[in-house]
Amino acid sequence: MAPQLEFSTFSNVINNQLTQTTETRHGINPANGELNPPVPVSAQNDLDTATKAARDAFKTWAKTSFEERRQALGAWADAIEANAEGFARTLTMEQGKPLTQSSVEVGMASSWIKGLTSIEIKNNVIEETEDRTVVQRYTPLGVVGAIVPWNFPVLLAVGKIASAVYTGNTVIVKPSPFTPYCDLKLAELAIPFFPPGVIQCLSGDDSLGPMFTDHHEIDKISFTGSIITGKRVMASCAKTLKRVTLELGGNDPAIICEDVDIDTIIPKIGILSYLCSSQICMMIKRLYVHEKIYDEFLEKLVGFVKTLKVGNGTEADTFFGPVQNKMQFDKAKDLFSSITTENLQTALGGTIEDSTGYYIHPTIINNPPETSRVVQEEPFAPILPVMKWSDEDEVVGRANALETGLGSSVWSKDFERATHIADQLQSGSVWVNSHFDLSPTAPFGGHKNSGMGVEWGLNGLLGYCNSQTQWLKKSF
Ligand code: NAD
Repeated sequence: MAPQLEFSTFSNVINNQLTQTTETRHGINPANGELNPPVPVSAQNDLDTATKAARDAFKTWAKTSFEERRQALGAWADAIEANAEGFARTLTMEQGKPLTQSSVEVGMASSWIKGLTSIEIKNNVIEETEDRTVVQRYTPLGVVGAIVPWNFPVLLAVGKIASAVYTGNTVIVKPSPFTPYCDLKLAELAIPFFPPGVIQCLSGDDSLGPMFTDHHEIDKISFTGSIITGKRVMASCAKTLKRVTLELGGNDPAIICEDVDIDTIIPKIGILSYLCSSQICMMIKRLYVHEKIYDEFLEKLVGFVKTLKVGNGTEADTFFGPVQNKMQFDKAKDLFSSITTENLQTALGGTIEDSTGYYIHPTIINNPPETSRVVQEEPFAPILPVMKWSDEDEVVGRANALETGLGSSVWSKDFERATHIADQLQSGSVWVNSHFDLSPTAPFGGHKNSGMGVEWGLNGLLGYCNSQTQWLKKSF
C-alpha cells in the first residue's frame, strides 16, 4: 500500500526527517489572495546539514545498480499516483492553474519517472582488441541542487529528482518561494523508498537560491527559470566550477501556412497559446499567419478564445486560472500598458481589471510591429501577438530574430514544405503541425539564450554524469 499523505502541514525534508525552521513564511493562493499554510525559511545551516547528509548518502547510493534505482523510483512514482488528488488540489491552491491541468501535470510526473527510467545508459566500447579495451562509461557527479520555477513545480522537480537519482547522484530540491508546497510533499513521499540523504527538499526565501549555487558541497545545479536568473546562476556556479544545466525562457514562434485547414487547427492553436494562462516556457508566443488567410484566421481565433472560461481553478470548466503571483501580475500590467503607448490594435481584450485574484482575460494583438514589446518580450501572461507574413525566407528570419530559441512550429498540409521551413528554425524543439509535444525519452532544451544542455532523454541523463574513459590493457 502506498503511503497516504496529508496536505496541511509542510516541512523541510533533511536526511529523511521532517524538520521546521524558527522563521516561517506563506505562499499566496493566486485565486483569492489568501495565505497558504506556513512553510520553513531555510538558512545556511539547514543547507549545510542537507549537503552533509547528501554527501554521506552519495557514498553508498552511487554504488547501487540502475535496476535498484529504477525500482525505488518506480515505487515513488506509484506513490505519487496514489496521492494524485491531494497533489492536484495543492498544486491548484499554490499555482492557480485549473484542477484539470493540475491533474495532468501530476499524472505526467508519475508516468514520466517510469518513462525516464526505461532508458538504459550503456558503456560505449571504443576499442576492443586482444590486448586492450577502451571504454567510455558514465559515473555520477555527486550532490545535485535542483532549482525549480513556479509554473510547473511538480513535473519540473520530478524531472530533476528522477534524473539525478537514477544516475546515482543525491539531490536537494529548492522550490520557488511562490510554490513550495507540492515539492516539499514530493520529498516527504520519497522517505520510505530511499535511504536518508538521497532526496531532500528545502523551502526558503529569495536568499536560498544563491546559497545553493555558491555551496562548495554541491557538484551540479540543474536550474529551470528565467534567462536573467540563469545568467546569475551560471556566474555563481563558475566560482566552484559546478556542472550547470540551464532551462530558460522562450518566445516561441508558430508559422501558419496558407494551406491549413483553419477550423481544425484553431482550437489547437488557441489551447497551445493559452494553456496555464500562457505561463509555460514553450507556449506559442508569436503567431505568424499567412496574409492570404490572416483575416479569417484571426476572426475564428478570437471566436474560439472567447469561449474559454476565466475563473478560479477549482471551478469546473475554468480554462484561464489566475496568473501565479503579484510580481507576474504587475509585470503583465506593465506589458499591457504598451498596447496604448505603442498604439497597438487589439482583436480581443487589452485591459487588466483589479480583482481579488490575479485574473487576466485573454488578449490578442492584431498585427503589431515586430519591434513592439509584446513581440520582443516573453509575456508569461495571456497576451498573444498575431502577425501577417507572405514570404517564406522573411518569416523564417523573423522567427529566428530573437535571442531566445526554445521551441517553434510550422503548420501546413504540405509536409515537405513544412519540414523544409522547420529545418531552418533555431530552437531546441521544432514541431510540424503541433507545438509542445514532449516525451520523457526525448531531450528538451534551448538554443541561444533559452538554455544550456538538455533535460530528459538519454542526453538529459548524461548531463548528470561524468564521462570516464577507461584504458584497460591486459598486459604490460
Ligand atoms: P526565476 O528565474 O525567477 O526563478 C526560478 C528559480 O530560481 C526559483 O526557484 C527562484 O527562487 C530561484 N532563484 C532566483 N534567483 C536566484 C539566484 N540568484 N540564484 C539561484 N536561484 C535563484 O523564474 P520563474 O519566474 O520562477 O519562472 C518563470 C521563467 O522560467 C520563465 O522565463 C519561463 O520561460 C522559464 N521556464 C523555463 C522552462 C524551460 O524548461 N526552459 C520551464 C519552465 C519555466
